[in-house]
Amino acid sequence: MASLNSAQRNRPRVAIIGGGYAGMAAAVSLIDAGIQDLTVYEAGPVLGGRARRIPGGNSDDDNGQHLCLGAYTELLKLMNRVGGDPEQLFYRSPLRLLFQGLATPPIKQSRSVFSLRSQSYLPAPLNLAAGILLSSGANLSERTRTLLALNRLQQQRYRCTSGQTVSSLFNELDIQGELRSYFWDSLCLAALNTPPKIACAQTFLNILQDIAEGPRQASDLLIPKVDLSRLFPEPAARYIQDKGAEVFSSCAVKRVEPAGQLLRLQGTRHQRLYHHVILAVPPRAASVLLSGWGECMHDLGNQLLALPHEKIATLTLDYFNSALRLPFPMMGIANSPIEWMFDRSFLLQAKPGSDSWNRAALQRKSSRFTCVISAPQEETHLEKHALTQVAHACMQSLCGPLPDPDTSRLVVEKFATLSCRPNIRRPHAHTPDKRLILAGDYLQSRYPSTLETAVRSGLEAAALTIESFSI
Ligand SMILES: Cc1cc2nc3c(=O)[nH]c(=O)nc-3n(C[C@H](O)[C@H](O)[C@H](O)COP(=O)(O)OP(=O)(O)OC[C@H]3O[C@@H](n4cnc5c(N)ncnc54)[C@H](O)[C@@H]3O)c2cc1C
Repeated sequence: MASLNSAQRNRPRVAIIGGGYAGMAAAVSLIDAGIQDLTVYEAGPVLGGRARRIPGGNSDDDNGQHLCLGAYTELLKLMNRVGGDPEQLFYRSPLRLLFQGLATPPIKQSRSVFSLRSQSYLPAPLNLAAGILLSSGANLSERTRTLLALNRLQQQRYRCTSGQTVSSLFNELDIQGELRSYFWDSLCLAALNTPPKIACAQTFLNILQDIAEGPRQASDLLIPKVDLSRLFPEPAARYIQDKGAEVFSSCAVKRVEPAGQLLRLQGTRHQRLYHHVILAVPPRAASVLLSGWGECMHDLGNQLLALPHEKIATLTLDYFNSALRLPFPMMGIANSPIEWMFDRSFLLQAKPGSDSWNRAALQRKSSRFTCVISAPQEETHLEKHALTQVAHACMQSLCGPLPDPDTSRLVVEKFATLSCRPNIRRPHAHTPDKRLILAGDYLQSRYPSTLETAVRSGLEAAALTIESFSI
């Protein structure tokens, strides 16, 4: 085993276990703080964790379609810091919710059943309020009630009763009808990945507050134009490697344990000593690694194991030799288990910086669509054949009769996000041993499990590490 010489002993040596968004955010922050003796260990072959590229035969794809918001300020800043330009790497649009109905039989095209577009020339929250007022598919009384509800929430400073669920909040605010299902419920599911009837109302309000009180761009939709590993984790790896850090992929850490003043880390290829370790792995993997500590980590290990999760399934459809396109890159499908359908081939083929919808569509020869099934509560919502039929019916509603898709693929991530319910005890970053710090989207936060939460937790873990070196 490598031991530390006297020069190394005086130089902070830090390991980060996990090369997802949290781990890579921590790494960038530590290297910028001058900690060069830094190693990232990632178990998988590709960096990114739950937001990663899956290398494929014909073309690469992600493990699941992701959507970000303009309010993801820390992610956007870090992307810039490692040399990426978010304006080039994302398709950005003012908040727009467009829901398509399914025409039966699909012989002629059907209209969208609901449409809402934030009025981006107005400051927040007027941009959203005007969008609601001008939305189509909901009657005037529903729109007025939604505006009154927004006003009431603003007066309450976006606070609700402790332990309240999102559904109960909507009932209390008398939000009903089409706006409830297409706007409020959809926002809840998209942001919290938890059904409204069990989702935490306060976390939902925290996001609403950021959107309503932040700059008008906070509610913008940001859809990646590159795969999720290229979006941030890979440029972050190059950035830290250029400054002297090491990044090992396909290198799972088997054990971490105290070894006197230091921590001994045993990986598939290495055994090394560190002053500090940041555990940026999902809760279950973290509880396994904590077992090396014995009794003092017992309670934390149990807390991690008790955290509930929600699934996300992603269905990908390919139509070879057909240049199909959606009216907008992200569309909802009304009354179906599929919440959103994304025009993946447009998004990946669009030139950086070019958001011209029609031009990009004309250039392509085949079409790929990804469909998101958030927090499915019933196994029947995960039947690939049935989902493929719904998605295909939606395409036919938009484009008229079509041959069946050439391929379809369903990826189910069983532990996609924390189930964002009221009163869940999310752990803090620090552990009973101050040399070991946690990072990840599941930690204590005013936000649900998202890329932004993961990045913020990585930054916090780095700050705690730096703080303990300076004491
Ligand atoms: C299908 C899907 C769709 C989603 N959609 C959205 C969305 O639209 N918007 C959004 O903001 N968020 C979305 N999320 C959530 C988002 O992906 C996560 O919040 C975020 O990626 C979590 O990052 P993390 O770094 O905390 O954890 P992870 O990404 O899980 O990273 C942990 C890393 O640790 C590694 N690891 C585990 N054990 C070991 C070990 N022993 N040794 C070394 N490495 C190890 C893992 O391989 C992994 O790379 C989605 C998630 C999924 C799965």
